[in-house]
Amino acid sequence: MAAVSRLGESWQYGARAPEVEERLALLAEASRLLADASLEPPAVMERLCALVVPLLGSACALRLRSEDGRWLRTVASASSTPEARPLFQYLIAPVLRADEGPSAEVLRTGVAMMVPRLEVEELRRQLPPQHHGMLERLPLTGSLVLPLRARGRGLGTLTVWREPAAAPFDAGEQLLLQELADRAALALDVARAYAAERQARQAAEVAAGRLARLQRVTAELSQVLTAARMAEVVVDQGVEAVGARSGGLWLVEPGDAQARLLRCEGEDSRMLADVFGAVPLEQPSPIAEAIHGAQPVWLETPDALGAHFPELAERCRRARGNPAPSSVCLPLAVDGRALGALLFSFAEPHAFDGDERAFLELLAHHAAQALARARLLEQEQRARAALREAHQTLSAIIQASPAAIMLLDMDGTVRLWNPAAERIFGWTADEVLGQELPVVPESHREEFRRNLEGAARGQLLSGAETQRRRRDGSLIQVALWTALLRTPSGAPQCLGIFVDITERKRGEDTQRFLAEAGGVLAASLEQEETLERVAHLAVPAYAEACGVYLSDEAGAVCCVATAFADGLRYPPGTPLAPSSEVVSRVIALGAPELCGSLAPDGPGGAERVLAGLCVPLEVRGQTLGALTFVTSRRPYDVQDLALAQELARRAALAIDNARLYREARQAIRLREEFLSIASHELRTPTTALQLQVQSLQSSLDRAPAALAPERLRRGLEVMGRQVKRQARLVDALLDVSRISAGRLELNPEPLDLGALVREVAERFEPELARTGTTLHLVLTVDAHGQWDRLRLDQVLTNLLSNAVKYGRGNPVHVELSATRGRVRLDVRDRGIGISAEHLPRLFHRFERAVSERNYGGFGLGLWIARQMVEAMGGHIAVHSEPGVGSTFTVELPRAGG
Ligand code: ADP
Repeated sequence: MAAVSRLGESWQYGARAPEVEERLALLAEASRLLADASLEPPAVMERLCALVVPLLGSACALRLRSEDGRWLRTVASASSTPEARPLFQYLIAPVLRADEGPSAEVLRTGVAMMVPRLEVEELRRQLPPQHHGMLERLPLTGSLVLPLRARGRGLGTLTVWREPAAAPFDAGEQLLLQELADRAALALDVARAYAAERQARQAAEVAAGRLARLQRVTAELSQVLTAARMAEVVVDQGVEAVGARSGGLWLVEPGDAQARLLRCEGEDSRMLADVFGAVPLEQPSPIAEAIHGAQPVWLETPDALGAHFPELAERCRRARGNPAPSSVCLPLAVDGRALGALLFSFAEPHAFDGDERAFLELLAHHAAQALARARLLEQEQRARAALREAHQTLSAIIQASPAAIMLLDMDGTVRLWNPAAERIFGWTADEVLGQELPVVPESHREEFRRNLEGAARGQLLSGAETQRRRRDGSLIQVALWTALLRTPSGAPQCLGIFVDITERKRGEDTQRFLAEAGGVLAASLEQEETLERVAHLAVPAYAEACGVYLSDEAGAVCCVATAFADGLRYPPGTPLAPSSEVVSRVIALGAPELCGSLAPDGPGGAERVLAGLCVPLEVRGQTLGALTFVTSRRPYDVQDLALAQELARRAALAIDNARLYREARQAIRLREEFLSIASHELRTPTTALQLQVQSLQSSLDRAPAALAPERLRRGLEVMGRQVKRQARLVDALLDVSRISAGRLELNPEPLDLGALVREVAERFEPELARTGTTLHLVLTVDAHGQWDRLRLDQVLTNLLSNAVKYGRGNPVHVELSATRGRVRLDVRDRGIGISAEHLPRLFHRFERAVSERNYGGFGLGLWIARQMVEAMGGHIAVHSEPGVGSTFTVELPRAGG
């Protein structure tokens, strides 16, 4: 050692006292040594001890006071005898109490003191046996205990021993040692102050670094809009800031029983994701605990995790092999409630000092704030999105609504006008927005004002029916709903929803009208009255004039009833539009027609529009006639047409009913007539028969021998005629019942009609003779065919008997004509003839054109004849003129089956 060499090899305590220069050199060496800033204090202390031994003593120990001042710790020592070192080190003890013994005294007074040598025996008692051998050779005398003094404080002690043989410490040596001790104390004090200062500076640097990071994190967090970004900033920056091995952030969604990993970073990322991806809050874990308690969970040593969360430690071990030696889990708490947790794990056991804890808690606090903000923002964004969506939906509804929707200020200014409003009222949005609502007709202004005032008071309308105006000036029926709204500034507004109910109203009116019409039409079965009622049904509601036209069987159309609105300037009977051609066409085709025409007698001589409608009266597939409607109020449209058709259907039914009723009544009358005729007819031959029988009987009773054969023959003849007549009547009745029951059977056979006519004519000879009628037959043509002889005989008999009966004794002509396929028979008389009114129904059952008083007969003959001719595929017709005569024509196909 350089110092020692300069001090001289030979110089050693006890040999001679050091010279002044040597002392100064020693002190200089000590100063140099102590000032060597490259050495750490323990090394300096060792050097100091090495300087003292062996120059000033055989052993020395340097002890420093503990921070609390209660202990003296041996920090350096030196001994000149290497073999005695273990014993010496044992004796000087690593730690002494600083408040007892000589050291305490020295520290208290700041003055060195001599401590006498301990007796060997005493030492022997204190020492373990392995050191006893050394005791004899122990180079220790008593010791000098010197205080290490700096700035008036005792930092420790320097104890120096000398061998028993050596000279005791003289005053100079004591001074020298004290000087060395003081210098050492000073150097130590300086070193300590320097270390403290350096430590403080380091701490300040760390703190400043953290602060800077915290500021950066805070600045970044203030920009964060989402929880994910917040997690990224906090975890990534946090790991770097606290020098962690890994970091992770978990969130608990409201109502969730798990914390879910949102972000992890660092070495343990995979393990964190695998084991802690979703952390059940009811199972013990640092994350669950931090969240439940809203307090950080500090795990400073490798054992802490195992001790607190053994199962989890086991899982971590299984997942990664080695859980983090230390970690901290911080709650992300806002208002005392944890929204999640932030975890950092460290590669080393880690004692978290106050600053670090404060930093971490602050980091978590900022993270929680940012999270709360992000959530609020997300909520707000969701709310905004929902609002936007609601707005879009509402707007779509308003656009697509079939009802007119409008929003009005309380003064009637239009603020909203949807496409349906445009469609219904005719004004476009551009035309009405910001303008006064134009749809209110003058007559409804007051009502409109009341509606607005009512809405402002909360009296809302719900489907109120009223009238509004279209752009073209026409009025429409609407149903109206109102609601009260407020502008953002709180001003009231009235929402109006309009549904055009014009068509519905019209439909209702139509239904009501038709129902009433049904009642009116059902009220009478009399045809005349029914026709009148039909004519009046639509006047004045739907028409100013109405005409009822019927066609007869011959197809002639005539107007049978008319109705005119009051004050109409057309006198009844003037031709009604539509024209008679239109009416005939409608009846012929069964199709309605709409027409319009101009009448020259409008107000002030102006022409006015006449709208006309003509619909057929149809029932049971038959067209009875037509109805015509005329109005000058408006053109008829398809709905009017539909209504007119419906009305015509009902009217036709009523007319048909009235007709059927009349026919039924007539049929009843005819049947009654028939019954009385039939009974009369049946009684006549019976009476005649009875008279003949009685007369012959009484002749026989009076004088049987006197009964002339001539008389008997005549009597029998009369009786025979009466029986025949009766038989014919009965046959006719039987035919009626057979035909009615559809049991008329034909037995066609090859027949010569000419021959049959002759045969029948022969049978008529007595009758012709009796009535003085001549019969002319023209039977030159070939009249062969396939017919039922008996039935054809019946037809001929009928026609011939009628010709004789109604022929007034004038000649009767029977003439045959033929084509290739058909044969025609005309039976012509010049008798009473038949009036036109009876002709249409002549071939009907029980129909008679003459009074029963003048001519007997059932009114069945022609009907039966027609049935039979038609059954054979033929046709029967009559041509007659009253007073001139009648011609009955029968046409038969030759193959009349
Ligand atoms: P009836 O048994 O009553 O003659 P018909 O059916 O044969 O019944 O005739 C019906 C009615 O037609 C008669 O009642 C009569 O009024 C009229 N009639 C029939 N044939 C003639 C004729 N040749 N001339 C005039 N009237 C006739």
